[in-house]
This record gives sequence, structure tokens and C-alpha cells, in this order.
Amino acid sequence: MQRFDTAVNLLGISEEMYYILKVPRQQVIVGLPVTMDDGSLRVFEGYRVIHSNILGPSKGGIRFDPAVNLDEVRALAAWMTWKCAVVDIPYGGAKGGVACNPRAMSAGEIERLMRAYTVAMLDVFGPDRDIPAPDMGTGPREMAWLMDEYSKAKGMTVNAVVTGKPLVLGGSLGRTEATGRGVTVAALSAMEKMRINPYRATAAVQGFGNVGSFAAALLHERGVSVKAVSDISGGYYNDKGIDIEAAVRYRDANKGSLDGFAGAEKISNEELLSLAVDVLVPAAKEDVITDDNAASVQAKLIVEGANGPTSASADDIINEKGILVVPDILANAGGVTVSYFEWVQNRIGYGWTLDRINRRADRAMKDAFDRVYSASKQYKVSLRIAAYIVAIK
Ligand code: GLU
Repeated sequence: MQRFDTAVNLLGISEEMYYILKVPRQQVIVGLPVTMDDGSLRVFEGYRVIHSNILGPSKGGIRFDPAVNLDEVRALAAWMTWKCAVVDIPYGGAKGGVACNPRAMSAGEIERLMRAYTVAMLDVFGPDRDIPAPDMGTGPREMAWLMDEYSKAKGMTVNAVVTGKPLVLGGSLGRTEATGRGVTVAALSAMEKMRINPYRATAAVQGFGNVGSFAAALLHERGVSVKAVSDISGGYYNDKGIDIEAAVRYRDANKGSLDGFAGAEKISNEELLSLAVDVLVPAAKEDVITDDNAASVQAKLIVEGANGPTSASADDIINEKGILVVPDILANAGGVTVSYFEWVQNRIGYGWTLDRINRRADRAMKDAFDRVYSASKQYKVSLRIAAYIVAIK
């Protein structure tokens, strides 16, 4: 909200409007009893926060992670509002989450948890009300369970209630790689302004999940040498550039982890952030660039694949160093943009080609970048504050 306040002060909106944009519309907390495989019963705490529904039904993912709590979900919900507004799609913002460790749960346990969460949110979700999607710890499989449980309750197939579904259940082509693809469009747009030639540029990508691995692969495809990648097992550095395809193959054969990946030297996640590369893509989670380490960042450009990777207090240090930051609410908006296309396709009952989806998504990202860039010149502010200004307007 600190960045929001800064943008609001520049725009001078009324106090009434300020509170309408600040206070979440609805905050739901539920207890979810789930039978575990060993026969015991555990009760998980789940959340859904609808921050805003001014521009349309609220939109946002569901996070399964041990660190999930109401405050985090509330922040992520607000970011969704600004994100949808920046890319100009007719959605408000929301976020959901369950405090749990999906890595330590069986598929059956996760399924029962997802179904219990859906039942608890039957009055919250709806294709014209609130539309969930994947986030950290969830993916197409969980969205399929959600759609099935919701459809059972309604007595008909309702595929538009959730996005990020498997293709056979009304998912969209291009959705899986959409966030990473948008990150790449944002990175290339910024590099163009900075006159950095992608074929001579280097990058480091933190996080090798649905955002980081696709961003790394697509940056590589556009000529950038990706010298380092990482996941929770640590960082992997290769001065000649990481073979991203090999890293993806290794991860997929190794239970989703890069642990033991041989094509690189092992470094820490912390070391990755301070590498002397042109482009740094934090694509893991919030608050990784903070007061403590911002001074050691050497990249010229930061493109925020994750939500909230730079803490508000680190912004000043990064700006003073002259590092350009493409903020999260712009840089990672490609995912929700293709979610929107998925919802549109579900509602018209017709599937678009991958080519059409990619063209429209790339154009949406490029237009949003240009809007934010112009606002940053007009108001003489960082791209981050400019993105909030565009969203609030
Ligand atoms: N969880 C993703 C995000 O943070 C996607 C949300 C969506 O597609 O609704 O942007």
C-alpha cells in the first residue's frame, strides 16, 4: 500500500475514492477438514480475499504454501486489482490461499483439500463473480478438481468459473507459458528503451517454476544468455549460459527439483541476486530484494516475474543505483491476460489458435508497457509508481 499511497498523492484523488480503492470488498477465512491418507483428520485454514470488483468480476490465483496467511493473501489480492487494470482487462482483483505444504502431501490429500476449499467458497466463486486460477503450489490439475466440484454443486459443467485448466476441460492454449512469455515481452521492451541488444545481453532468473523456467527459455530463444537459474535447492551458474532445455528436462525427471543439476556451478539464491548480469528476473516469491541486499544488486534491469519480489523499502536503494525496474503488476500480467482469454473462449464456446492468443497477449503486454513508460515520463516517477498511476486512473 506504500506504493499505492505514493501514486495516490501524485494523482490527488478524493478521500472517499482512496478508501474505496484501499479496503478489500470481502475477506473470507474457512477451516477445511481433510482426511489424510493415514486416516487422521487435519483442519487447514483457507482464505479468499476479494480486493476489488469495480472493473468486473474479481480475478486471482490460489496459493498452496506453508507461509500463506491472511495478510499475504490480502496484499496479493490488491496486486491483482492493479495488475488487471494496468493491462486493461475487465476484472477486479482477488487472491486465495491455503496454509499447507503440498510437497509433503499425496495427490489424494491435495485433491480432498482442493475440493473442500471449493465447497467452502461456493458462494464466493462464480464466472460473473470471482474467478480463481493457479498460483504458487497449484496448477492445471488443481483447477480441474475445482471446476469439477463447482460443476457438481451447480448441476452442470461450468468451465468459466476457473482459468488455468487443462486443455481438455476448456483450458486455453498458451496459458501455461503465458506469464513467462509476458515477462520476456516486458524485458525486451525495457531493453529496447535502454538500448541493450538482447544478443549481447546476459540474465539471471530466480525461480524455476511456471514463471521462471518459461521466462528463462524464452529469453534464451530471443538471444539472451541466461547465466544463472535457481529454485529452492539453490542457484546454478554457468558463464557460457545455462542449457535451459536440459535444465527443464532434468527438473521434470527429478520430482520438479533442480537439485543435482550438473550443467552448472552451484551458487546460493542470494549470490544469484547480486550477479553482474544485464537483466535480473526474480520469479520466485515476495520480498527477496530487501534493504539488506539491494545495494549489492549489479543488474541494469530488474523484471519482476514474481509478485512483490522487491520490498517497498528497497525501492529507493534500487532507484538511486539507476537500475530500471519493470514492476510485478506490469511484468507478470501476461498470465492473467491469457486467463482472461481462456474465460472469453469458455463463454463464447470457441477455442482460439495459439497464434491468435500469443499475438493478442504480446500486444496487450507491449501496449501496457508503453502506457506505463509514458506515464513515468509524464509524472517523472519510476515505472513502478507509473504502473500504479495507470492502474488507479
Ligand atoms: N496467479 C497468477 C498471478 O498472480 C495468475 C492469476 C490469474 O490468472 O487469474 O497473476
